[in-house]
Amino acid sequence: MPQVFVITGPSGVGKGTLIRTLRERMPELELAVSATTRRPRAGETQGEDYWFLTDEEFGERAERGEFVEHAEYSGRRYGTLRSELERRIGAGHPVVLEIEVQGARQIRRTLPEAVQIFVAPPSAEVLRTRLVGRGTDDPEQVEDRLRTARAELAAQDEFAEVVVNDRLEDAVAKLEAIVRSALHSSA
Ligand code: ADP
Ligand code: 5GP
Repeated sequence: MPQVFVITGPSGVGKGTLIRTLRERMPELELAVSATTRRPRAGETQGEDYWFLTDEEFGERAERGEFVEHAEYSGRRYGTLRSELERRIGAGHPVVLEIEVQGARQIRRTLPEAVQIFVAPPSAEVLRTRLVGRGTDDPEQVEDRLRTARAELAAQDEFAEVVVNDRLEDAVAKLEAIVRSALHSSA
């Protein structure tokens, strides 16, 4: 039975970087492409980074029950399309979801067998430095994301697996060990 892995944690903690590095080591892992109503950043591609939808399209698809989970984050909507998940699971691939905490909570209820991993920063200062250093969000967005991060960090005890992303190499190794162990025990 293919496994579903939920990687969550505050914006800027390194979820995307960790998943990219993990997938280089484990190419069988597939990433479900989420839908969002936020604007594409420079270099982001439709259908690769996200399915970029209008508010109206997102709302209609949510009404039709097309999302396994969806949430509002920083004034925008984000969600996992059922089709993205089912196509990959149907093809026998383990799937990674990179989502924020409200979505992870929904998945905990609807897909309790999914393995949930919270990525934590070594400190609040490091999180700020990474978010600012990434250079993708204006100062107002950074502050909003850091405000949300406080609540998200307070939720980390809900997660059985917590990976602190201090040295990237160590964090990837820990993540890989969790994923391989879950795949091994479900085989
Ligand atoms: P997220 O997907 O959680 O929002 P990103 O993967 O975009 O976070 O990482 C945010 C920034 O932090 C990026 O500029 C990335 O290169 C950097 N980063 C990620 N992990 C580390 C790490 N372990 N040490 C130093 N910088 C990191
Ligand atoms: P960003 O705007 O930085 O791409 O994403 C903002 C937040 O939304 C991140 O924490 C990211 O993990 C989360 N996110 C991305 N896709 C989804 C999704 O499909 N569902 C939910 N609930 N959150 C998502």
